[in-house]
Amino acid sequence: MKTIKLREGKERSLLRRHPWVFQGSVAKGGADAGETVRVESASGEFLAWAAFSPSSSIRVRAWSFDEAERIDAEFFARRIAAAIRLRERLAIQSNGVRLVHGEADGLPGLIVDRYADTLVAQFLSAGTDKWKAVIADALLAATGLTRLYERSDSGVRQLEGLGQATGWLRGDGPTTVELTESSWRLKLDVAEGHKTGYYLDQRDNRADFARWVRQLGAQRVLNCYSYTGGFSVAALAGGATEVISVDSSGPALARASEHVLLNGFDPAHHTALDADVNATLRQLLKDGKQFDAIVLDPPKFAPSAAHADRASRAYKDINRLGLKLLAPGGLLTTYSCSGGIGAELFQKIVAGAGMDAGVDAYIVKRLEASPDHPTTICFPEGEYLKGLALLRA
Ligand code: SAH
Repeated sequence: MKTIKLREGKERSLLRRHPWVFQGSVAKGGADAGETVRVESASGEFLAWAAFSPSSSIRVRAWSFDEAERIDAEFFARRIAAAIRLRERLAIQSNGVRLVHGEADGLPGLIVDRYADTLVAQFLSAGTDKWKAVIADALLAATGLTRLYERSDSGVRQLEGLGQATGWLRGDGPTTVELTESSWRLKLDVAEGHKTGYYLDQRDNRADFARWVRQLGAQRVLNCYSYTGGFSVAALAGGATEVISVDSSGPALARASEHVLLNGFDPAHHTALDADVNATLRQLLKDGKQFDAIVLDPPKFAPSAAHADRASRAYKDINRLGLKLLAPGGLLTTYSCSGGIGAELFQKIVAGAGMDAGVDAYIVKRLEASPDHPTTICFPEGEYLKGLALLRA
C-alpha cells in the first residue's frame, strides 16, 4: 500500500470528511491511476483510504475515513447497498431513479441511473474506472437486474487521463427503454440520449410544473431547452392547450413529439421547434407573443466558477426575455445546472433580469434537484441544480 503525505495544514478538509485533495496539498508520494492509497497528514496521522488520480488536479478522492475499512469488493457492495436503501426510503414516484450520485453516496466519480430494468453507469474518476468490473457485479447483485450500459463518454474523464468508453458492460439488447414518471410514459435511449439518457434530476420539478399549470389554468406554455419534452408532457397533463417545445436537438424533439402521442395528448396542442432558444425568444417577443407559463432549463453555461461571469450574462439575457414574454400573473420556472453559479448568485441574476425587463415577480418556490440526487453536508459542492418558480406580478 502506497502512502500519500499531505503538506502541513492540508489535512483539514479530509478531517471534515470532504473527499477531495488537490494536487497542491500533496507533499510526498504517488501511485498508479486509480490505485488505493493511504493518505496521511504531515505528522503521519491516518486520514483516509483513497483513489489516486495522477493526472487530475483533484489528486486524491477518499473512499473511506475509517482506518479499519478495507477497499475491496465488499466495500463497494456495502456502499451500493446503502445508496439503494436511501432511494427506497425516498419513495420516488418513478421507475427511473438515480441510484448512485457520486461523492454524496461515498463513491466519488460514480453515477448510476436505473431506467426500469436497465442500469446505466458513468465511471468518471480513475478510482471508479479501476474498480469498474467489481462495481458492475455489485450493481447487478444489489438490484437483481442483468443489464448495465456504460456511458463513460463525459468530458470530465479527460481530466482523469481516461478515454471514452461506451457499450454494454453486462447483458445486452435494445438500448431504448420506457419508464414511468408521475403517471407519464417516457422513452429514452441509453446509448444515444444525453448523459445517461434522461434528466432524472428534474422529476419532481416536472410534477410541480404540471400542478401549477393546472392550478393557474395556464394554456400557452413555452418549454425552452425542452430536450425530449418532459416539461411539455407535464404542461399537457396540467391541461395546457398550446405547448411549444424549443430545442436545438432534432432527435430530442422527435422524441418529444412521440411522448405527446404516447401519453394520449392531442398532437395539435404541441409544437416542436428545432431552433436556438435565444433567437426564438427574441422572435417571439418581436411577434408580440405572450405565455401563461415558461420553462427555462438551459445546459450548463458555467462548467466551473471560472466561467461564472460570462455565464451570468447568458442567464440574465434569457431570463430577461422570458420575463418579458410572460403574461401578467404568468409562471416562469427558471433553472441553472452550473456548479459555478450558486443559488444566491442565480437569484441575483434573475433579479437583474427582472430589472432590465421592467418586471417584478413573486418567488413561489425555490427549486432543486430531486432527492435521489442528494447533497451531503460535508460536500456542498455536489449541489448543482437550482431554480426559481416565479409568478409575474
Ligand atoms: N428540461 C429538459 C432537460 C434540458 S437539457 C428535461 O426536463 O428533460 C438542455 C437542453 O438544451 C438539451 O436538450 C440541448 O439540446 C438543448 N440546447 C442546448 N443549447 C441550446 C440552444 N442554444 N438552443 C436550444 N436548445 C439548446
